[in-house]
Amino acid sequence: MKGAERIEIDRRYCKGCMLCQYVCKYEVFEVGQERSALDYLMPRAAKLENCRVCRLCESHCPDMALVVVAKKKGKGKE
Ligand code: SF4
Ligand code: SF4
Repeated sequence: MKGAERIEIDRRYCKGCMLCQYVCKYEVFEVGQERSALDYLMPRAAKLENCRVCRLCESHCPDMALVVVAKKKGKGKE
């Protein structure tokens, strides 16, 4: 199964709209404590282990602030 190594959110651009949370079917995101450069509360990938790397969040982010980094496939997996 696909998984994410990490989800990078660029604090220069995130506007805290939480569209990424809205489109994610796997409830990966929650509202975090960290504020972006524009002073909005940013999402946090609280359940990164749920991520299926569908990239819906990435493609829906209006500010292109979010990048999903997939795990590298290990030998013998998938
Ligand atoms: S969709 Fe993009 S701008 Fe909106 S909260 Fe998520 S990362 Fe930030
Ligand atoms: S890549 Fe898909 S599963 Fe992973 S956080 Fe984004 S929307 Fe959710």
